[in-house]
Amino acid sequence: MKTTGEISDQELIEAATQAREQAYAPYSHFKVGAAILTAGGQVYSGGNVENSSYGLGLCAERVALFKAVSEGYRQFPKLCLVADTPQLVTPCGACRQVLVEFCEDLILLLANLQGNRRTMTLRELLPAPFDGRVVMTRQRGGPIKD
Ligand SMILES: [Zn+2]
Repeated sequence: MKTTGEISDQELIEAATQAREQAYAPYSHFKVGAAILTAGGQVYSGGNVENSSYGLGLCAERVALFKAVSEGYRQFPKLCLVADTPQLVTPCGACRQVLVEFCEDLILLLANLQGNRRTMTLRELLPAPFDGRVVMTRQRGGPIKD
C-alpha cells in the first residue's frame, strides 16, 4: 500500500505496472496489473493470480480491490489497469460486477507498456449491473415474491 497526498494518474500507472511484474501467470503468460485508489488517497495494487485449476485464478482488479476492502476501505474513485498489449485492456465482466459493488462511479484508467492510455467509466462498460439493493430488499421481506 502506498500512502501519499494527491495521487497522479502517472503514479497510479506506475503502481499498476509494478504490480503487473508480480503477477503469477505461468499458464497464460498474460500478466495484468491493477492499482485502485481509495477515497482517502491510498493506493492498493495487485497482479493477476492464476492456478493450475484455471477457473480458480483471480484477475488483478479483484486482487487490488479485495486487498483494499479487507483493510476496511469501501469507496474508490479510480482504478488503473495495465497490460502489455497494443490494445488497452478493460476489466472482464466478472470484475465489472465486483467493482460496481463498491464504486458505481468508478473512473477506469487503462494503460499499456507502450505509453498509451485512456480514461473511461465503469458505467460505460456496465450500464445495467446487477443491483445489490434488490437482494437487500428481498431480505427485508420486500416486493420480490417466491
Ligand atoms: Zn476480471
